[in-house]
Amino acid sequence: MHISESIITRTWEFGETDLLVSFFTVDRGRLKGVAKGARKSTRRFANCLDSFCLTRLEYERKSGRDLYFLNSGKLIHGFPELRADFHALSLASYMIELTETLFPPGVSEPRMFDLLKDAFIALSGRIGRDELRIFFEAKALALGGYGINFERCCECGRLYAGEGRAVFKHSKGGIACLRCEKESARLPGLNPDTAKGLDQIQTTPLDDAQKVTLTDGMIEEMKRVLRQHLRYSLGKELKTTRYLA
Ligand SMILES: [Zn+2]
Repeated sequence: MHISESIITRTWEFGETDLLVSFFTVDRGRLKGVAKGARKSTRRFANCLDSFCLTRLEYERKSGRDLYFLNSGKLIHGFPELRADFHALSLASYMIELTETLFPPGVSEPRMFDLLKDAFIALSGRIGRDELRIFFEAKALALGGYGINFERCCECGRLYAGEGRAVFKHSKGGIACLRCEKESARLPGLNPDTAKGLDQIQTTPLDDAQKVTLTDGMIEEMKRVLRQHLRYSLGKELKTTRYLA
């Protein structure tokens, strides 16, 4: 028997009265389980199996399979604000899809769990959605092993001292100096404060990252860099992206 703080990522109706639940745990990564009779009786799972819910789940492994039995759940936070408007719902769904893409079933990363939880809390607050999406993407990619290298030019190896513009090269996951590369639609350029800010965002906890002040210009540059970086690193466009357009 295990007990884990979990975020419910999605559910499917299963059989007559059961619910199939995909959940992201703080200590065991992403798992899938069956909540027997959850659609008939709410006693063991009172309001805690909706998508985005932060729930303390009690579960055990079914013999020899990757499917778990959910015994009971206790709601910690329901994040009702995430379902209050379409854009919040879309952004929360996008965050879940990005998490699931970066972390396959059973791969545990407590920092990713905390990031998702903190992002849901922030999404219920006053932070701008554009900023929050940038914070989340940059940090999730870094945790998933796709941090952008801002230290030196990825072509000539020259240290980047934060003077002058740089060019983001998605194929290298890093920046190039202007001697080695030219800016274009596919190779977006960034100002020194954008490079410094993005580096800071990907390496500090979300609470501290939120203290990085972003100008409109920085936000636009970061969006372009992250769009290229996500597409190249993941090798596909996430399905939920189109709801955010
Ligand atoms: Zn160079």
